[in-house]
Amino acid sequence: MTSALARSTENIVSASAELRGRLVLCSEILDGVTGLIGNTPLVRISSLSEALGIEILGKAEFLNPGGSVKDRVALRMIQDAERQGLLHPRTGSRIFEGTVGSTGISIATIARARAAIIMPDDVAEEKVKALLCLGAEVRRVRPASIVDQKQNMARQAALQFGVEDVAEGIEGMQLSHEIPTGSPSLVTTETLRAQTGERIVDDQDDGPASKPRGFFADQFENKSNFYAHYEGTGPEIWRQTSGKLHAFVSGAGTGGTIGGVGHYIKSMNKDIKVVLADPEGSGLFNKVKYNVMYDRREAEGTKRRHQVDTVVEGIGINRMTNNVSLALPIVDDAFRITDAEAVAMSRYLIKHDGLFLGSSSACNLVACVKLARLLGWKEGQTIVTVLCDSGTRHYSKFWNDDYLRRANIPIDETLIETLLNTP
Ligand code: PMP
Repeated sequence: MTSALARSTENIVSASAELRGRLVLCSEILDGVTGLIGNTPLVRISSLSEALGIEILGKAEFLNPGGSVKDRVALRMIQDAERQGLLHPRTGSRIFEGTVGSTGISIATIARARAAIIMPDDVAEEKVKALLCLGAEVRRVRPASIVDQKQNMARQAALQFGVEDVAEGIEGMQLSHEIPTGSPSLVTTETLRAQTGERIVDDQDDGPASKPRGFFADQFENKSNFYAHYEGTGPEIWRQTSGKLHAFVSGAGTGGTIGGVGHYIKSMNKDIKVVLADPEGSGLFNKVKYNVMYDRREAEGTKRRHQVDTVVEGIGINRMTNNVSLALPIVDDAFRITDAEAVAMSRYLIKHDGLFLGSSSACNLVACVKLARLLGWKEGQTIVTVLCDSGTRHYSKFWNDDYLRRANIPIDETLIETLLNTP
């Protein structure tokens, strides 16, 4: 039994840890936009915490300057590449990446016009607009199903930019790649030209030919992604909770967050559970539960849907990559989260907490509720999750009721009441 005195001392200790975090932020003059990356607060999700009787805490990654958790990864990938001599800041060499948006925006927040981004045609349009405002070059590609090994974005980015060893299998790729000189120039698609005016960017002179002219960030394979979380997000969560957490819940797009944070917190206390929130159409749930990457029948069903559109953006994957392989051994359990549940959670949270969150954050919070209910946690436990980005990145799809109706996804927040009340 913890005494009242011990409890209040604990509160003071954790309050002062939190205060220290804030003091660092408030008392220092931060160095430019990159100084704003990381050190995000942990916010208590009051409605869910009170309904469940335990603490549900969200790492407010939407407060990063590029608007998502991926700012940490972009910064670390760029810093590591510069340290390794793969990227030369002063010669203006370019940074290439295949992404559904967040990582591209984060790279462009740091590198602006040096960012060259490949993204599928079916992602929320506001992400493309943000990239163009930041000065990035954007190339849209045919929407690729996440169950399609051959057409994934990382592969397309690599091929378009002349990375040769990708053709026979992305799993064998090195961690980072130099882009050969003379890589093709990028143009926006017709759609984007119509929306944004002509923007055709010629390949720039990136400096002496002997220097690398570009860097393929490759978030799926690049271990800098893992280390951004292992040395950044994970220790921050540990400090902010004074190590008093019982579970960490996260989706996986590249697996960087769940792998990096998961490994760090397990290294501090192996009893803390690391739990995956997996959206419809992703193969990781089956991989964690049954050690198969996907159920073929399920994959066929979801493939059709994904060729049209995906409502939950940023998480879900069906292929093994460096970062997924690093993450899986420390994942204790997984929950399949339906699109309807994610939508319901987002509407529940705006109504009860005033939190306007993106689709992956909503998935994460549904998984927190399912975990608490499954384990019968009712008092004293703390679950930490990630609030990856804000609803402002999702106006045209996840937060567009007409779009959801057309996609036959119900908008029914009573689903959350039901989950909360499930015995
Ligand atoms: N949420 C959003 C909105 C994202 O863009 C991503 C990255 N794809 C994630 C969550 C998942 O993060 P990770 O890549 O670390 O698995």
